[in-house]
Amino acid sequence: MEPVMHHVRQRVLHRLHRTRILPKRNHSGCAEQAAAPPSTQSRRTKPPLLVSRLYQPSNLRDLGQDGRLPGEMTCKSQRLMQQAGLIHPSNPGCYYYLPATVRSMEKLVRVIDQEMHGIGGQKLDMPSLCSADLWKTSQRWDLMGNELFRLKDRHGADYCLGPTHEEAVTTLVAHQATLSYRQFPLLLYQITRKFRDEPKPRFGLLRGREFYMKDMYSFDVSEEAAYETYESVCQAYARLFTRLGLRCIQVQADTGNIGGKLSHEFQLPADIGEDRLLVCGNCSFSANIETLSSDKRDCPQCKTGTLVESKGIEVGHTFYLGQKYSHIFKATFSNSQNKPGVAEMGCFGLGVTRILAAAIEVMSTEEGIRWPGLIAPYQVCVLPPKKGSKEDAGAVLAEELIHTLGETLPGLRGEVVLDDRTQMTIGKRLKDANRLGYPYVVVVAQGALEETPRFEVICQQTGETMFLSKDGLLDLLGKVETV
Ligand code: ATP
Ligand code: MG
Repeated sequence: MEPVMHHVRQRVLHRLHRTRILPKRNHSGCAEQAAAPPSTQSRRTKPPLLVSRLYQPSNLRDLGQDGRLPGEMTCKSQRLMQQAGLIHPSNPGCYYYLPATVRSMEKLVRVIDQEMHGIGGQKLDMPSLCSADLWKTSQRWDLMGNELFRLKDRHGADYCLGPTHEEAVTTLVAHQATLSYRQFPLLLYQITRKFRDEPKPRFGLLRGREFYMKDMYSFDVSEEAAYETYESVCQAYARLFTRLGLRCIQVQADTGNIGGKLSHEFQLPADIGEDRLLVCGNCSFSANIETLSSDKRDCPQCKTGTLVESKGIEVGHTFYLGQKYSHIFKATFSNSQNKPGVAEMGCFGLGVTRILAAAIEVMSTEEGIRWPGLIAPYQVCVLPPKKGSKEDAGAVLAEELIHTLGETLPGLRGEVVLDDRTQMTIGKRLKDANRLGYPYVVVVAQGALEETPRFEVICQQTGETMFLSKDGLLDLLGKVETV
């Protein structure tokens, strides 16, 4: 070891012993038990998250029963997510959500929860196993055709796996005999798995047969109040997509077999999108092409503009239902004159797994995933130098850095990983980091060993590389928003 390196190493080790990252050694070389109480001790010595230990299997051999090879995968998000060990196909339209995906989903769910609570939503959880009786009452048992996954229990009773829950939630609310107008607007929502036997499951999580949806159902005293609720949910959706950094357009939509009077879709513009949208270049008019009867491209709203066609991925759908379900299931309440009224309803879907994949679809490069920063599985990846290289002493600095981040930036706890695969060059590991899309990659190499240490920081969202002092780095990472 060169004398100067030796000096750096001594200095770093000294600092680490002082901050207790490394256990003190006694004369026989064994680690001494620190005197701190057990709880403090375990917090302080919590080992960093190691990339070598994360279950993120890339390039799994079996690519599903459809026998597709990696090169044949149907869209960018599916290919990148499979290659990065985020999802693994099990059977058509069904996937294993691997740990990094689950982390990202949990974050997305937290953001959705915040926005839904912000407008007075209350979360519940309804059974996925739905009795056919309810669906027969609404006549959707027949209307849904092959899309419904149907099954029988041991007594021969019919069930379906819930593709949506208008029937279930309306019956629930109808069961409360004492429902009062004072409880309105009542906004109930859940985030659960939905089941639809899609004719063409494809594009990875974009169109699955089993997927997560947030579905909210609103109950109001009057049509007017229901429209207000409708508007507040649309605004919450707009806020959600802004927070995720996604450009989303709200278009007029068809009401389909959910039924009702007014409907909008929230669409992310993307070439692989399966919806065709028409947007006026002159005014705010935008609609799904399904809603327009003529082939003309004159704007029906401002009359002067021309409608321009583009493609979109539907990530959300809102419906004003009126009394369609509340009438059938007798969801009534007592109004301010103590007279019974039939609730005015709305329903509001968000494709949770679809949003995740769609975000990856529209944000990523061909080589690497780019996440909406807020929901990236991990925020920071620290890369120590290759083992045996001349910057080897940086390895200790990298650990020290992670320790400091944990101590000074509580928001980043659990968000920083150490790429400890130091048998690999920095270049190879950088390539992986690019593929997985950590918003920030910090390289601890030559610059970090200088008298005034400099860290190389790659901000993957912008592609920018910066050289920062430790304070500069803490400043930068201190601004990272987490959820
Ligand atoms: P699509 O037209 O894409 O089939 P839909 O109109 O049938 O969707 P909705 O009933 O409006 O879907 O469901 C609400 C939301 O659930 C959709 O906006 C979408 O984001 C999501 N979603 C619907 N079907 C799927 C699916 N097969 N896989 C993943 N997400 C889905
Ligand atoms: Mg829809």
